[in-house]
Amino acid sequence: MDFNLTDEQQMVKENCRRFAEKYLKPKAAEYDKTHEFPWENIKMLGEMGMMGVVYPEKYNGSEMDYVSYAIIVEELSRGCASTGVIVSAHNSLCLSPIYYFGTEEQKNKYLSKLTTGEWIGCFGITESGAGSDAAGTTTTAELKNGKWVLNGTKNFITNGGVAHVAVVTAVTEKGAGHKGLSFFIIEKGTPGFSVGKTEEKLGINASSTTELIFDNCEIPEENILGKPGEGFKIAMHTLDGGRIGIAAQALGIAQAALDEAVIYSKERIQFKKPISSFQAIQWMIADMATEIEAARLLTYKGAALMGTGERRKYSKNAAMAKLFASEASHHAAHKAIQIFGGYGYTREYPVERLYRDARITEIYEGTSEIMRLVISNNVINEY
Ligand SMILES: Cc1cc2nc3c(=O)[nH]c(=O)nc-3n(C[C@H](O)[C@H](O)[C@H](O)COP(=O)(O)OP(=O)(O)OC[C@H]3O[C@@H](n4cnc5c(N)ncnc54)[C@H](O)[C@@H]3O)c2cc1C
Repeated sequence: MDFNLTDEQQMVKENCRRFAEKYLKPKAAEYDKTHEFPWENIKMLGEMGMMGVVYPEKYNGSEMDYVSYAIIVEELSRGCASTGVIVSAHNSLCLSPIYYFGTEEQKNKYLSKLTTGEWIGCFGITESGAGSDAAGTTTTAELKNGKWVLNGTKNFITNGGVAHVAVVTAVTEKGAGHKGLSFFIIEKGTPGFSVGKTEEKLGINASSTTELIFDNCEIPEENILGKPGEGFKIAMHTLDGGRIGIAAQALGIAQAALDEAVIYSKERIQFKKPISSFQAIQWMIADMATEIEAARLLTYKGAALMGTGERRKYSKNAAMAKLFASEASHHAAHKAIQIFGGYGYTREYPVERLYRDARITEIYEGTSEIMRLVISNNVINEY
């Protein structure tokens, strides 16, 4: 067992950290305030090959390994959690199903533009009645005269307002539950496809979260991903991978909270001493650091298992990584505010933003309760 990063992974980590310190961190508070989509960050990340991290060079991807991908999302999120989730949703949720289930034509047409960041992608399974239970999907797709006709509304879609390409689930066989779901690729500008309400959120405010509306939206027959009825399988495969991205985002936020808390605790004087000299503060720092280290190990292990390409090997670990890292992130941000005292509760310092940003990692791409369900199902089936 080797706990060291490879030279290449170490280099990726250092480069991303420098980039995040120089370009992301200084503007994160402003983006949080204005809720503007951070186009300039995404443009630079596209040029750096971060919008198609693990995909082959023949589709303009960077062909890196999954551990490097986790490191990238972690380091970007350490600087700006909104940028972290934009990159994660794009890479993990939109590009992944096209890469793993698309035809060669679909990969050439869509992946090649998405990997460079020229196009942004989004992924839509959630609907008002289909949250944790994807089988509750009511958006339909009917094949009529050689075209799929989509009707329905997707909710809470990350990158929804800015995406050039959406991959979404729809029911193609009514009454068949999750076996009646299929997956489709829809391009921005297709008649009948529009962006609905933009959500006002607690955190990750620079990321776009919107409805996607399909109103007799006609797409070519070849825009189905995989075969009819494979939508649920594709969605679950995609989410297993996505959970590594969210675990990495949570980890980055947690690390940022620890960094801020330690620096502040050494500067803040009370009772004529830095507060870092008080055991109460030291114990909080110890707990934060320990949970972060455990979250990092789980996340990198999940990412390494993903690299094997065998879903049965990484599904449980991806869920464990997401569950643990998201809760560690919440705990770390909570303790960071405690260490900052009243100042931590104000917008003057970044820890209140980290607290707000961390919260969503326990919800999207499967709530903590659903992660416990996935983990326990896997564990029970192992016996
Ligand atoms: C900012 C943001 C971005 C998002 N981005 C995307 C995106 O890009 N694409 C997309 O498709 N979706 C996206 N989502 C949706 C997100 O994945 C869902 O919100 C999440 O899966 C939970 O679904 P829900 O909100 O309907 O909650 P519900 O499913 O209604 O859950 C409510 C509560 O019940 C619990 N619960 C539900 N079922 C069970 C069960 N069987 N056992 C135990 N507890 C259960 C849940 O854990 C939760 O605590 C996003 C959401 C947000 C807020």
